[in-house]
Amino acid sequence: MATKQQLEDAVSKRRTFAIISHPDAGKTTITEQLLLFGGVVREAGTVKGRGSSNFAKSDWMEIEQKRGISVTSSVMQFDYDGKRINILDTPGHEDFSEDTYRTLMAVDSAVMVIDGAKGIEPQTRKLFQICKMRGIPIFTFINKYDRDAREPLDLMNEIEETLGIETYPMDWPIGMGRQFMGVYDRHNHRVALTHPADESKPYLPLDENGEVIGENPLAGEGEWEDALEGMELISEAGSEFSVEKVAAGDQTPVFFGSALTNFGVKTFLETYLKYAPAPSVHKTEEGKAIDPLSPEFSGFVFKIQANMNPKHRDRIAFVRVCSGEFDRGMDVTLERTKKPLRLSNVTEFMANTRENVEKAVAGDIIGLYDTGNFQIGDSIYTGKEDIKFEKLPQFTPELFVRVSAKNVMKQKSFHKGINQLVQEGAVQLYQNYNTNDYILGAVGQLQFEVFKFRMQNEYNSEVIMEPMGKKTARWINPDQLDPKMSSSRNILVKDMQGELLFLFENQFAENWFKQKYPDVELTSKL
Ligand code: GDP
Repeated sequence: MATKQQLEDAVSKRRTFAIISHPDAGKTTITEQLLLFGGVVREAGTVKGRGSSNFAKSDWMEIEQKRGISVTSSVMQFDYDGKRINILDTPGHEDFSEDTYRTLMAVDSAVMVIDGAKGIEPQTRKLFQICKMRGIPIFTFINKYDRDAREPLDLMNEIEETLGIETYPMDWPIGMGRQFMGVYDRHNHRVALTHPADESKPYLPLDENGEVIGENPLAGEGEWEDALEGMELISEAGSEFSVEKVAAGDQTPVFFGSALTNFGVKTFLETYLKYAPAPSVHKTEEGKAIDPLSPEFSGFVFKIQANMNPKHRDRIAFVRVCSGEFDRGMDVTLERTKKPLRLSNVTEFMANTRENVEKAVAGDIIGLYDTGNFQIGDSIYTGKEDIKFEKLPQFTPELFVRVSAKNVMKQKSFHKGINQLVQEGAVQLYQNYNTNDYILGAVGQLQFEVFKFRMQNEYNSEVIMEPMGKKTARWINPDQLDPKMSSSRNILVKDMQGELLFLFENQFAENWFKQKYPDVELTSKL
């Protein structure tokens, strides 16, 4: 058992974050740079695991093999500057799922990576909203400035307007593309050069007035003049840097750079570590705050990754540690059932191999091999006090399929499978109000494929899935319902809680409905 002081030291070192970005913005490239700074040597491309190659979606063995990598890269841990950093992966592309959203429930801060030429893209916006809802600090890295990008001021405005968060540029780019000369780093009082004449002197120091001390190789360049002008404008009209606002997620510090050429990533990491929070309290459903330094262990399951290999039907439950200290083989209580469980079969997410693995404390993630004990959102704890962490939010699916059992004689296993997988949080289930047909909803296509595969392999139930395509889900007040409102373009369904909602075919159908029934209130979830 660690002493209180040891626990405090360990927890105060932890920095746990996720990178939110749209596919191709540079998340993998930045992650690899960060791991390198942390002394974790990896072969290029190992972070992604899957590469960008097209894989046959039906070939589960193949996916499983690749997933062998992707499981361990779901959480990456390294040490830097006296801190222990946990990066939680938020998959994009075809892997995007509700788990991606839920991962954001397990971090203490987020890093938003934006492609400088593209600005805010849809996936970034969705992930951002969850961080905003949680009120966690968000740090922004505007990437790919070694290519032609949008004007920095334009990007600042876009972030502020579309995301509703104040920006504070920590630095300002000097040129872009082939003329990217560096950044004016007002936070660290220096100019960082992309191509210093002397490699050992990549920085030009600035004096109190922000003037370069000594010789300035950029003097006279148009890009330099533009950067100074931009900086001046921002200093006069922009916001003040506020540690409190950053901590509350109301202001985002913004950095410019190029992950590919490894420019700006180190400054970003060091400044991030200065302002990012250590793990703090987690609330229970009754609103009680669980202190990370409490001697009793507690945590919650935020993600369950199924093993696609039929020979190994186990899965991994990802647990965010919220308090105390995790010890291999320890006995905990599973809150939902109040039953004891021994946590002996555990994977630790170590990016590098280390002999003496420190015990996991608040902020760390442990992976428990699970044979069906856990559900998404489950709390586990030691001690006498019952701890039930706040419910994980439900996310509004966008993709829907109609689902039925292929063999009508096998309804029993079909229902059993559906109920268990839905409870586990793999997909969301709806029922057509008029026909009672089952409808599944997901935020990513892969969720359906995993569902189909697991129904077959774990419940011996072959399912038929008919794609219904993208829909907009909007909940309604049952008092305002007239079943006649339902049509093929706005299907009336019931969710698992028995609440009623419409699945609108598109924006046009939703607008049409609003005009026809102006009094009916339509609400969305996250
Ligand atoms: P992810 O999908 O967000 O993980 O993006 P990746 O890190 O895989 O990057 C997508 C593509 O953009 C790759 O071809 C990278 O080499 C490239 N890329 C990433 N960062 C930069 C950058 O700073 N500059 C340039 N020019 N390309 C970059």
